[in-house]
Amino acid sequence: MGIFEDTVTKARELLSETGKATGEVIAVQKLKFEATSLKSAIRKNYELLGQYTYRSVVNEEDNAEAVKALTQEISEQSAKLKSMQEEIASSKGKVICECGGVNNADAKFCSTCGKELK
Ligand SMILES: [Zn+2]
Repeated sequence: MGIFEDTVTKARELLSETGKATGEVIAVQKLKFEATSLKSAIRKNYELLGQYTYRSVVNEEDNAEAVKALTQEISEQSAKLKSMQEEIASSKGKVICECGGVNNADAKFCSTCGKELK
């Protein structure tokens, strides 16, 4: 292979690697954005839950159904957020402990609570 072909091949390889890395960065950025939106949606649902609870006490409204539905929605959103945060952490070579502590992927124990990491 001549010098020119060699350079072209190397440039193509580099471009392909860079493209791949850029794609990953964009995917993580998108995930971070979605996680932020989800966090805000969860906060709004907690606020709504508080309003329903408050009104059921003050005005003696029966909001049991709404409270139940909101509680379930918050649980589902929180589970989704947790898995998104784990994905974001793993893209940075980190793992999240059950306690919420962020550790290096090769850590044997959590630096926050001391629990053994799997
Ligand atoms: Zn921990």
